[in-house]
Amino acid sequence: MSTELWYTERYEEHGAALSLKIREVLHREQSPYQVIEIFETEQFGTLMTLDGLVMVTDRDNFLYHEMMSHPALFTHPMPKRVLIIGGGDCGTLREVLRHREVEEATQVELDERVTRVAERFFPKLCEKNNDPRAHFHFTDGIAWVKEAEAGRYDVIIVDSTDPVGPAAGLFATDFYAACHHALADQGVLVAQSESPLLHANLIRQCQQRMTEAGFDAVNSVYFPQFCYPSGWWSGTLGRKGLAMDAFRADDAHAFSGTHYYHAGMQQAAQVAPAFLLP
Ligand code: SAM
Repeated sequence: MSTELWYTERYEEHGAALSLKIREVLHREQSPYQVIEIFETEQFGTLMTLDGLVMVTDRDNFLYHEMMSHPALFTHPMPKRVLIIGGGDCGTLREVLRHREVEEATQVELDERVTRVAERFFPKLCEKNNDPRAHFHFTDGIAWVKEAEAGRYDVIIVDSTDPVGPAAGLFATDFYAACHHALADQGVLVAQSESPLLHANLIRQCQQRMTEAGFDAVNSVYFPQFCYPSGWWSGTLGRKGLAMDAFRADDAHAFSGTHYYHAGMQQAAQVAPAFLLP
C-alpha cells in the first residue's frame, strides 16, 4: 500500500480545506513565536507554513508578492523610503527593490527565524537581501511604527499573518493611525486583508478603519492566490493626500520582470466584486 503524504490546512469555520501532495518534510522548528515548517511538495515546489498555516510556495508566491508591492509603489509619485512590516520570507522585499526609485527598504519582522529559514530554503525570494538598500530589524512592527518619526516613510507595506496573535494589532485603527503619522504627504499604506469570499467583513473593516485613521482615498486590490483560503486574496490601500486614481502609468508600462502585475492590472485589480462595492 503506497503511503501518500499530503499537507492539509483546514479552514474549520468555513468547512473547507486545502491539500498539497508532499514529497518530504525538509525542516521543522519551534521559534520563540511560532512553529516553522518547510515541505517539499510534488507540484508547488517548496512550501513554508507557520503554526500550520500556509505562508508561501515556490509556485504561486509571485501573485501575492507582486500585488502587495507594485500597485502601492506605482500609486506613489516617487517612492524612496519603504517600510515592510512582517514579510519575513523576503518575497515582498525583493519586489520592492526592483524599483530603482527606492533608496531604502526597511523590513521589520517579528521573528528572525522566519527570515533565516527562508534564506536557506527560498534563496530566490531572498536574492535581494544583500542589496545595500535593504535594512532588517527583528522586532514588533506595531511598536516600530508607533515610535517612527512623523513623515518618515513614503510607502508602508503590511505583509503580515492572519489577524490573530502578534498580528492582530496590525488590523487595528490605532495602528493605521500610527502608519498615517509615519507616512509623509502623498504616502501610501497597503495591508494584506485576506479573502474577499471568506473574509469580506474584514476587508470592509480594514477600509473603514483606514478611513477613520485619516487616509483619504481607500480601496482594495483583489488577486488570485491558490494556496491561501478560497484561492482569492486582497490588499487594502490607504492614500495620504493622494487621489484614488493616482498612478504613474508610464513608469508601470515600462516596468518589466513581473509574472502577474502589469500596468493594466493596476486598475483591473481595483475593481471590486459587487458584494464588496461601497
Ligand atoms: N503572505 C503571508 C500571509 O498573507 O499570510 C504572510 C507572510 S509573512 C511570512 C508574515 C510574517 O508576519 C511572519 O513572518 C510573522 O512572523 C510576521 N508578523 C506577525 N506579526 C508581526 C508583528 N506584530 N510585527 C512584525 N512582524 C509580524
